[in-house]
Parts: sequence; C-alpha cells; structure tokens
Amino acid sequence: MRITCPLCGTRDRREFYYYGDAVYADRPAGGAAPAAWDDYLHLRDNPAGETRDLWYHEAGCSAWIEVTRNTVTHAILSTRLVAERGGTDGAAPKPRTKGKSA
Ligand SMILES: [Zn+2]
Repeated sequence: MRITCPLCGTRDRREFYYYGDAVYADRPAGGAAPAAWDDYLHLRDNPAGETRDLWYHEAGCSAWIEVTRNTVTHAILSTRLVAERGGTDGAAPKPRTKGKSA
C-alpha cells in the first residue's frame, strides 16, 4: 500500500504509523459529559467501506495525516494534513512509543 503525504508525496506505508480512527482528532471539550468521553475513548464503528484514519509520517516529515480509504477495496481515496482539517482544539495526538506504556 502506498500513501500520499501532502508534504512528501507518495510513499510506502511502512514509513507511516497507523494511529486509528480519525475521531481521535475530535476530542470532546474539557467539561463534556462522561458519556461523550466514553464514546470518544471506547466506541468505534467497524465499517466495510469508507473510513477516515490518522496516520503519522514517522519516517518522513512527522506530519499527522488523515487518510480516507475503502476497507473493502483498499483504495486510498484522499489524504490531507490533520492541521488543515480543523478540529475542536487543533491538537494532533501524540504518537505511541513502541515498547513502552505512556
Ligand atoms: Zn510527509
């Protein structure tokens, strides 16, 4: 699989770290109800079809990228910088450290 980084161009997926559903970039407000935090932290859809995921260009420019792809055909439909998509607080998630718990 090849992913197009908006800054670096098309690269092998092994240069990227998969973070998860793009909903992680839509953090609830600080005073949100516990149900909103439960939904944010624990509940995910598992669609057969189009998804939006967060990828970190770990071996490249260190940008967070939102990738829209189809889980059935494995086609990547679009990519864009998380910083340009907007969000509730504009903060990108921190990459997980391999082999260590945070
Ligand atoms: Zn890049």
